[in-house]
Amino acid sequence: MVRFTVLASGSKGNCSVVTGGNTRILVDAGLSCRELFRRMRLVDEDPATIDAIIVTHEHSDHVGGLAVTARKLGIPVYFTESTHRAWVRWLSPRKQMTYTQWLEQCRKQAAARTAEADAVELEECDPEEAEAFAESCPVETAEPVPAKATPEKDPTWLPSIKFFEAGKPLQIGDISVSPFTIPHDAADPVGFVFQAEGVRLAVATDLGYIPPNVKAQIKRVDLLLLESNHDLEMLRDGPYPWSVKQRVLSRVGHLSNEATATYLETEYDGQAAYVILGHLSESNNLPELARISAERALNGHATLLANRLLLAAQHEPMSTICF
Ligand SMILES: [Zn+2]
Ligand SMILES: [Zn+2]
Repeated sequence: MVRFTVLASGSKGNCSVVTGGNTRILVDAGLSCRELFRRMRLVDEDPATIDAIIVTHEHSDHVGGLAVTARKLGIPVYFTESTHRAWVRWLSPRKQMTYTQWLEQCRKQAAARTAEADAVELEECDPEEAEAFAESCPVETAEPVPAKATPEKDPTWLPSIKFFEAGKPLQIGDISVSPFTIPHDAADPVGFVFQAEGVRLAVATDLGYIPPNVKAQIKRVDLLLLESNHDLEMLRDGPYPWSVKQRVLSRVGHLSNEATATYLETEYDGQAAYVILGHLSESNNLPELARISAERALNGHATLLANRLLLAAQHEPMSTICF
């Protein structure tokens, strides 16, 4: 049996469970481990039976509980290499340097350069630069501290790391996974089509618009989890600072109710038994607005009436959908 459960969807945390054959995958782990397990039990999913976690991108609402959950279950985490690198950078403690250490580093660097090209003097450290540095001291350097081998010391330690690439399908147990690139302001963000027992499930949230490659991927699916993040008017008049509004509205931000409705009305093939609207903003959207907007778009097509339209929520899991 193929099953799909959204445990959480929205800017405060995202996670879904995909089950196919004997395999069970978590898509993202954006809630604390404790909360993820609580929600799994609410929908009769045993956390101990999860085989792997696959990550869409490194934003905290998708990876907030990742390391703890993977360690507790002792399971592999699938990332793209760039997403893993960005996640490690996000979690790594930064080297702290005092002003004296920084001067010492300058001296060493200057000495090294002198050795290479004899004209370089030790006064390489610009006095103004040194002063500015002293004011902000101690500072973080861009250099992450090298990874340590134990989970206690290294927040990025995982039982097992597996890399995949967008555009290259992979197999996790009984589930085939097709990752595809989505336009979003992260290192290497992806959506997925999961396939098992002839059933296809698509997950596409956190995207600024729907480019042709995404449209091609989410065709002929039995279930479509698609973002319907914000109502344009609510976002414009809402509480976010202008810079954040710009980011959300950008080509690498989030899909509005209007953009999702346009897709559903004009390009969606109507094949999915379930269309789930996800990643709804709590500040800039209302579930009813998202629903009405999508319903109107779908009802424009008599052939699409068989589609069930559902809304994924932030604070409680959806009932499991079985195929
Ligand atoms: Zn997100
Ligand atoms: Zn994101």
